[in-house]
Amino acid sequence: MALGLNVPEPEEACSDENCPFHGTLSVRGQTLEGTVASTDMDKTVVVEREYDVRVPKYDRYMKRRSRVPAHAPPCMDLEEGDTVRIAETRPLSKTKSHVVVATLADEGDA
Ligand SMILES: [Zn+2]
Repeated sequence: MALGLNVPEPEEACSDENCPFHGTLSVRGQTLEGTVASTDMDKTVVVEREYDVRVPKYDRYMKRRSRVPAHAPPCMDLEEGDTVRIAETRPLSKTKSHVVVATLADEGDA
């Protein structure tokens, strides 16, 4: 199923209803890139992003982190430290409203 996103389909198939490729989940809104910070939960990963915020008073940048819980369908073989792209979707649970749509190639800093 085409998502309307510029991402490849996973090589594996799965039967997860909440998989954007093999189930009925539709994605919308923005996509984000981040690093997998935790794979402790079943079918959920925590994606961490680091970004710089400018502080006008000192004209310097401050690092901020955000952690976004995202659904990880079984066809995505994710490990901690992987760089992933996530897309917004309908709320999947109390805290989840994103789904992992692709694993991105490491940029060589591992
Ligand atoms: Zn799938």
